[in-house]
Amino acid sequence: MSEHNPPATWGPPTAVMVAEAQSLLGSLRRSGLTSGVIGRPGNGFGIDQLTDLVLDGQEVTARLPDPAVLLQAARLLGVHPARTAVVHCAPAGVQAACRGGFGLVVGIAYGGAWAAAELRAHGAEPVLRGLAYVTVDEQAMRRRWWQPASTAGAEHAGWLLDYTGVDLATEGIRETLCTIGNGYLATRGAAPEADAGRSHYPGTYAAAIFNRLRTRLHEHVHEDESLVNLPNWLTLRWRRPGERWVRPDARGVSEHRQTLDLRAGVLHRRYRHVDGSGRATTMVSRMLVSMATPHLSALETTLVPENWSGTLQVRSGIDGRVANRQVAEYGPLAGRHLRPDGQGRDGDDGLWLRVSTTQSRVEVATAVRTRLFQAGVRVDAQRRVDMLPGRPQETWTVAVRAGQPLRVEKIAAHHTSQDRAVTEPAAAPRDAAARAGSFAELLGEQVRAWRRLWERSHIELHTDHPWPSLELNLHTFHLLVATSPNVTDLDAGVGARGLHGEGYRGHVFWDEVFVHRVLALHLPEASRALLLYRWRRLDAARRAAAAIGCRGAMFPWQSGSDGREETPRELFNTRTGRWMRDRSARQRHVGLAVAYSVWQYHQATGDLDFLRTHGGELILETARFFADLARRNPRTGRYEITGVMGPDEFHDGYPDREAPGLDNNAYTNVMTVWLLRQALAVVDLLACRDGTSLPDRLGIDDGELARWAEITTRMYVPWHDDRIISQFDGYADLAELDLDAYRRRYGNIGRLDLILAAEGDSPNRYRIGKQADVLMLLYLLSAEELRELLAGLGYHWPPEALPRTAGFYLHRASHGSTLSRVVHAWVQARTNRTASFGNFTDALAADIRDTQGGTTREGIHLGAMAGTLDLAERCYLGIETRQDALWFNPRLPHEITRLHTLITYRGHQLHVTATGSALALIASPCNAAPVTVHVARQPPQTIGGGQQVSISLTG
Ligand code: BGC
Repeated sequence: MSEHNPPATWGPPTAVMVAEAQSLLGSLRRSGLTSGVIGRPGNGFGIDQLTDLVLDGQEVTARLPDPAVLLQAARLLGVHPARTAVVHCAPAGVQAACRGGFGLVVGIAYGGAWAAAELRAHGAEPVLRGLAYVTVDEQAMRRRWWQPASTAGAEHAGWLLDYTGVDLATEGIRETLCTIGNGYLATRGAAPEADAGRSHYPGTYAAAIFNRLRTRLHEHVHEDESLVNLPNWLTLRWRRPGERWVRPDARGVSEHRQTLDLRAGVLHRRYRHVDGSGRATTMVSRMLVSMATPHLSALETTLVPENWSGTLQVRSGIDGRVANRQVAEYGPLAGRHLRPDGQGRDGDDGLWLRVSTTQSRVEVATAVRTRLFQAGVRVDAQRRVDMLPGRPQETWTVAVRAGQPLRVEKIAAHHTSQDRAVTEPAAAPRDAAARAGSFAELLGEQVRAWRRLWERSHIELHTDHPWPSLELNLHTFHLLVATSPNVTDLDAGVGARGLHGEGYRGHVFWDEVFVHRVLALHLPEASRALLLYRWRRLDAARRAAAAIGCRGAMFPWQSGSDGREETPRELFNTRTGRWMRDRSARQRHVGLAVAYSVWQYHQATGDLDFLRTHGGELILETARFFADLARRNPRTGRYEITGVMGPDEFHDGYPDREAPGLDNNAYTNVMTVWLLRQALAVVDLLACRDGTSLPDRLGIDDGELARWAEITTRMYVPWHDDRIISQFDGYADLAELDLDAYRRRYGNIGRLDLILAAEGDSPNRYRIGKQADVLMLLYLLSAEELRELLAGLGYHWPPEALPRTAGFYLHRASHGSTLSRVVHAWVQARTNRTASFGNFTDALAADIRDTQGGTTREGIHLGAMAGTLDLAERCYLGIETRQDALWFNPRLPHEITRLHTLITYRGHQLHVTATGSALALIASPCNAAPVTVHVARQPPQTIGGGQQVSISLTG
């Protein structure tokens, strides 16, 4: 949105425009270039004789700043948008052309310098003073392919993830980062020409489709559950008959470019191939997974023989012979989850395949519709269908002429037996593929659906350098790919690696706490749906708690289909090539994250019904478990929790103790107190809302509630000298380790645990950390809340102890988890803003630079991605939702000149903008009840729909 007032008119005097347009159309025609006009100004000035297409009529003009209209024109003209220039004089038209992926978007600034700036800001490049300034270089136009026009224009710099050339070594990272999806399904950004191998890994994953496999290995039976890699719908190859299929990494390929348009959710790809005889062919493709219609995805491939005429072959298919083979360390374990279960052809353009998972027996069906077009008209090409087992494919042979594009549209539909409102999983996609609109129509819907999502989720970050803004947008994009509102109808949890790869087998971890904090403020409906995943698994969690002698619910460290513990018992050490025991399931704190997320959702939405029907039960059952886990030490009278692990996975026990786990992990103990307090507040809050109170329904009696209250005043917390909170009992006695020496020796010491194990040593002996542990407390609770909570336990924690506590842990972390930098940036925001910004940018770069050394190719790190958004909002803008009010305490690092977000809070849409010196809140007009707002240390105020508040932060 522009900050400026629009000028009185964008248009020129009609007479000038008519003359200029006539002259331009005339020169285009003389050059033999195709042109078209949308709308019919004035009396039409005889344009029909000057151009190939006039698209007008009320329906068209009413929809005009819509990319779909421009795309329709391109389709009718038989031209590819990336080879098409759009000339427009209004920002909305320019923006529509950018969103439609048009190659060149020329702005005509009849309104002078101001209008020129505005057009440029909306993506026009170049901007000219009138149509008379457009010159036509016929040769250049014929050969020219552009990237999406939005590469031009400052406003678009943060929206395109752009790669040039082919780099097989980093291809896996690109594929992960170019994954496109919609919360229901995601497809890695692999080339449609590629098979799975060492460099490429096409993968398609649908939320919550898991399968278990068993492998006997070294006399040991491993049973693992994984998110299943589904049939590859993308497969599309081309060649000249008798020659090899062309691949982007083949000899003769140049000018390779791949661009993910974050704003539209479209992956563009292009290259030029020259064969041994000098025949040049350009390939341009666009690919989307529909956010608007989550069961559809589409690939459009345009092939242009530049200097030759002859025959082309195009092969399209569905490959169901896929397996989960992405993660090297799972290599020895079984990975084939699918069994073919039916396939066939539909009419003259359709294929379908149904597979089922071997153990969970989920049926998954994919149908594709492939059509070929030349000059906007469907080509009657020769089609051969091969029904290979589990891999139906069709090969089209078609005559092509030099300079004339052949456009191939492949529309895919996907359904599973877990979907609702379907009769049989294969019938649904076959029907959907046959009925689906054209690629251009799907693209138009896609652009609109993504625009609506961006309006709700975009965090605008202004710094001197464009990278942080691009990275932040990339993180929002992938958060939406993994958890868009399309999840509301699914039984899906928050996978730690998104729907982007096979790392951690697609399991759900505590990382969701980082995700819900963001979703609650932007897409609360998605947050609610993802929390229901946990609610449905409460019984499994109750059984797990009972198995260790506790009441309540103990959520597993890694969760999959039915909520049982999925953490493998062994971990593969890539340095030694040996398996090591994995005790990470001792991280009971996952339940604290679930309850915390429920409370965040409640605070942001005020949704009491959810609390009454589902959320309250989650909070009370986890509270019950942690209260039972806490045992009173008769000697001290304080409650203690023993035998657990905190978030720092480097410490899973004591060097001299065989039994796993640590005693009194401060994070677990303090958050237990937080949880029990919240649980008691929930009991109060819901007390009068229902005849049967929640504690009654769950069988929680007054005695148990009284014990919870007692724990909130008598929990034990370990300390070092100087009021530094100790990570766990005995941490202070551990030896120091010279991390710098290890850095010098090994470079990246993120996985120092593996390094030490290879040296025959163990991190349990040292005062080091894989990631933030005590400091997590300061990420989840404000310093005031933490101080007050400790005071309630009888511990005095003076303000000056905070920087000491932070200082102690900050330089002992190896950052072996991407979550770590997020937390460090958070803690430093109040003490060392420059260092905070440094950690923020490191967290932003974690996946784009694959800083964990090879893990990004196995999927994004969703928690850390969401964590950076959370940092921008809850930390730098200082947004808190507590005590039924909204709190702001902005502290922008000096590098951030302006930060804007639009949050959803209790029915309001609130624009929040901060600069170093001021904060502005604008509530969009609405009828929701006014809300209480606290800014910095000012007295609270209320803000209602349509109102605004501006506060100087310098006074
Ligand atoms: C981190 C955990 C995290 C998991 C999944 C591990 O490396 O230590 O905190 O939950 O990755 O992202």
